[in-house]
This record gives sequence, structure tokens and C-alpha cells, in this order.
Amino acid sequence: MFNNLSDKLDKALHVLKGHGSITEVNVAETLKEVRRALLDADVNFKIAKDFTTRVKEKALGQNVLTTLQPGQLMVKIVKDELTELMGGDAEGINLSGNPSVILMSGLQGSGKTTFSGKLANYLKNKKNKKPLLVACDVYRPAAIDQLHVVGGQIGVEVYSDKGNSDPVAISKAGIAHAKANGYNIVIIDTAGRLAVDEAMMTEISNIHKAIKPQETLFVVDSMTGQDAVNTAKAFNDVLNFDGVILTKLDGDTRGGAAITIKSVVNKPIKFIGTGEKMEAIDVFYPSRMADRILGMGDVVSLVERAQEQFDEEEARKLQKKIAKNQFGFDDFLSQIQQIKKMGNMKDLMGMIPGAGKMLKDVDIDDDAFKGIEAIIYSMTPKERSNPGILNASRKQRIGKGSGTSVQQVNQLLKQFNQMSKMMKMMQGGGAKKMMQMMKG
Ligand code: GDP
Repeated sequence: MFNNLSDKLDKALHVLKGHGSITEVNVAETLKEVRRALLDADVNFKIAKDFTTRVKEKALGQNVLTTLQPGQLMVKIVKDELTELMGGDAEGINLSGNPSVILMSGLQGSGKTTFSGKLANYLKNKKNKKPLLVACDVYRPAAIDQLHVVGGQIGVEVYSDKGNSDPVAISKAGIAHAKANGYNIVIIDTAGRLAVDEAMMTEISNIHKAIKPQETLFVVDSMTGQDAVNTAKAFNDVLNFDGVILTKLDGDTRGGAAITIKSVVNKPIKFIGTGEKMEAIDVFYPSRMADRILGMGDVVSLVERAQEQFDEEEARKLQKKIAKNQFGFDDFLSQIQQIKKMGNMKDLMGMIPGAGKMLKDVDIDDDAFKGIEAIIYSMTPKERSNPGILNASRKQRIGKGSGTSVQQVNQLLKQFNQMSKMMKMMQGGGAKKMMQMMKG
């Protein structure tokens, strides 16, 4: 996420972060570099210029050059300004209605349908809500089918009416269906076109007027940079929407839309999409995003994600198994599943301070566990719970079945054994033992 921008800002601020003496000249030079980095990120000229002007004024106001750690203070000022530019505080969505109606708008391909599913899934699992999805794209039957597929994946009902060509009528009927059946959230997925046009705007505006949603969200592909910002403006003029959803941040190396959209339409970014899977949704926190852009990582989000996936009941069962030496490959597999649910690997690594920069050129496979999973799936249930029985011929069979080699199977076994030993040690009051061992 935003690797190019992070890189350039890091280079720009490098001089100040060092311990050399800081002068007015290198502060000015740094600000010029920061501005260039923002322009390269597809931030428009005026916003980039205003940004550096504000940073300069703040720096002067705080007498940066006379402070003890001028470099760090400068970085902090840049971070605060970046946070402010992206919206200051995080803003939630209005769920006060019964049902709360959420209207999705945006161009075709922006990720509306995917995000409708992600949001329904999020509200169901994290906020204990009972959502209904409503399919209002009357032009593309495939879009309705797609929403049904998404609904099926997350176990959320989808209301649709394929013969009906009136999206206002469908959305009203969807809301009535929700009221009659005890749904407290209605998410309405609407039709988009490839570019902004009058017919689309009239249609979404008519739906908006007819149903008066609690929350109107504008979905946009962050990779489209300045186009995203212009499209946001067009939709906001017609809908006066409540918030922006930035999708495909996982593929966005520049970050221009994320940085500028708030200041152009004066509406907060509420959520971000970071992948194609239903779990790839995050609340947008401007300050955490600024940390990530400046290569400071985002430990808070990382810990939160780990906590979300942490299931106490499962953990207790696992402890018992470890104590009884019964930790097997099925348990190993479920651990991997939990890690995977936290998000894609590169994204997770980016949350560790400093790691993003270190790993920027390393190609981390989105599915780093594929080989391991294939090997485990090729084992029989008996082998999984009892790895001790894996002899040469079994390993050969597993290698063949998983499309890997005996060496790879051996390597996994070795890792598995080390991990089992370590877990056992950690349990037997063994953090101390382990420290002793590490001390050698
Ligand atoms: P719609 O036409 O606005 O409903 O867009 P879709 O929901 O059909 O999404 C268009 C494409 O973008 C699909 O292939 C999605 O899988 C993909 N997509 C949506 N959100 C994200 C995201 O956050 N990250 C990535 N990498 N792909 C996404």
C-alpha cells in the first residue's frame, strides 16, 4: 500500500531524521522534496503546495530549528498535517434507523458490489446486525447474480426482482421486505456506468430522494488517483453523500486519492477495501494511515486484527492438546487459517514499523502458505494427527500428491517439530526455560 509515496517521503525526510545539523536551507530543500513526492503520488498541485506551506508555517511557529530534536519534530508536523488532510478523526457510519438504510453509489467496476458484501459481513459479525442486501442494478442481470454469490458466501440474504426495471420500486420493496422480516440494516447496491453520465446520476438521485437513506456512501477505486477525486466531486454534487469508501488500496502504490479526496469533497473516508476477499475491509483511521505512509507501521491495527481472530475457546483447546502432546497437522492448519484471515501477508508486514521499507522489493506471495497447505491436505487424517508415522514411502506419496518434493515435506516436518517443541516449552512455565536456552 502506498509504497512509492512512502519511499519518496522517507528519502525527503531522511536528512532531517539524521543527526546532522539542520538549517533553514535543508528544511526548505526537504519541503520541496515532500511536495514533489506528493505530486508524484497524484496529489493535485494546489493541495501539495498548501500542504508544504502549512508545514513550513508550523515549523516556524514552533521554532523547530532551536529545539532539541528538530528532525523528529519536523516529521511529527508532517505526520499531523497528513492526518489532518485525510480527515482528522475516524468517522463511523450512521446506524440509527430501524432499519438503517445504506445506499451505495459509484461507477461500474469501482468495487460497489464487493464492498456491499464486505460491509454486510462486517456489520453482521462485528456489530451483531442483521443485514439485507438489495440488488438494484436493473441493466446487468450478471450484477444481480454477483450479489447473490456474495450473499451466499457470507450467509446474508439478497433481495432482488429480476423482471423489474424500476430501481426505485425495487429499493422500496427491499426496505419493506426488511421491515417485514426483522432486518435492521438494508444495503442497496445500485447500477454504475463506466463514466459519469446524466442517466446514471438521475437514477441514483431518484433512488436517494425516494428512500432517504441514513447513510449514502460513494465507492471509488483508489488506484484511479485524480480521476477518483473528480468522480467523487460529480457524485457529491448530486447526492451530497455522507462518506467515501476507497477500494483496492492493496494495489495502490501512490495514494493520491486517499490523501486528497477529503479536502476536495469535504466528506470523510469511512472504510477502505484492501483485497478481493470478504474480510478485506478496514475502518479508515487517518492517523494510522499517516503512520503507514511515513513508514512508522501500524501496530495498533495489527494487534486489533490479531485480537479479532483470536478465539478463546479454541486457544484453550489448543493448550490442552499441546500439554498432552497431541498437537497435530490439523491444528497447524487451523492456525494458518487464522493468520490468513488477518489479511494478505504483504499488508500485514507493512504494519510492522520499518518492515514495509525493508520488504518493499521482496515478493511476498499473497498465498504464502499454499505449499504448506497442499502438503497437509495430501496427508491422511491419521498422518495429520500422528506425524510420527511418516516414513519414506508416505513422504514420497505426500510429495507427489501435493505437487511438492520429499525435501519440502521434510522441511515442513522439521518446522512443525520445532514449533511443537517451542509451544510445549512455552507452556511448561517455560518462557524462562526458553530465555535460558537462547542465552545458550
Ligand atoms: P462494481 O461494478 O462497482 O460492483 O465492482 P465489483 O464489486 O464487481 O468489483 C470490481 C472488481 O474489483 C472485482 O474483480 C473485485 O474483485 C475487485 N475488487 C473490489 N474491491 C477490491 C479491493 O479492495 N481490492 C482488490 N484488489 N480488488 C477489489
